[in-house]
Amino acid sequence: MNQQQNKKYLIALSSPSGGGKSTIARHVLHLHPECRFSISATTRNKRARELHGKDYYFLTKEEFQQKIENGDFVEYEEIFGNIYGTLHSEIRKAIAANQVLLFDVDVKGALYIKAAYPTESLLIFIAPPSMEALEERLRRRSTESDEQIATRLARSEMELAEKDKFDYVIINENLEEAFKQMEEILAKEVFMWRSGND
Ligand code: ADP
Ligand code: 5GP
Repeated sequence: MNQQQNKKYLIALSSPSGGGKSTIARHVLHLHPECRFSISATTRNKRARELHGKDYYFLTKEEFQQKIENGDFVEYEEIFGNIYGTLHSEIRKAIAANQVLLFDVDVKGALYIKAAYPTESLLIFIAPPSMEALEERLRRRSTESDEQIATRLARSEMELAEKDKFDYVIINENLEEAFKQMEEILAKEVFMWRSGND
């Protein structure tokens, strides 16, 4: 099979922070070895359970700047006071391995990926059932301070306003139901053509 056939193999998951995209991405990656996670670069501090080279490439501002100058990024953006960026090398590795690449990026990052790869990309927005649920999940995750949570909630309205630009919207109220919807979308849009059934 050849990935140059304009099939969808770049799958961007976006949501407001706490919306559930990492949880859904982990589920897909666990079930489907043919999927690979696009490891972004970031200048933010590593959280307790995160690993360099698995969750992110954790870089200093100077290292990140050097990569910008080298033209290493498909897109990059400042979010919550840190810079995050998608590396061209992640896409190259996925193509070389004939894998489906899953991105966990903010809404602007997803729209950039769509602009750069209009026929190869699929954008999925994970929406929280309500702002209250979003806040509660962020608090329960306990990875950010109160101030950082407030910053993340403040940005979420802008992100929710962009959801109609996405190919699909999944309301993540019940996690099992969200997993099921994600599976259905991937079965229809991605695994169908990979198994040669289209
Ligand atoms: P994101 O990657 O979008 O910031 P996470 O996947 O880290 O969000 O989810 C935020 C928190 O909410 C995590 O602690 C996760 O376990 C929890 N969570 C995700 N989906 C649900 C759900 N449907 N119901 C309850 N908790 C959820
Ligand atoms: P977090 O700090 O919670 O890991 O991520 C904060 C936000 O940055 C999330 O919305 C996440 O999707 C986004 N993000 C992570 N990597 C990238 C990237 O490479 N590009 C863009 N545009 N956003 C990213």
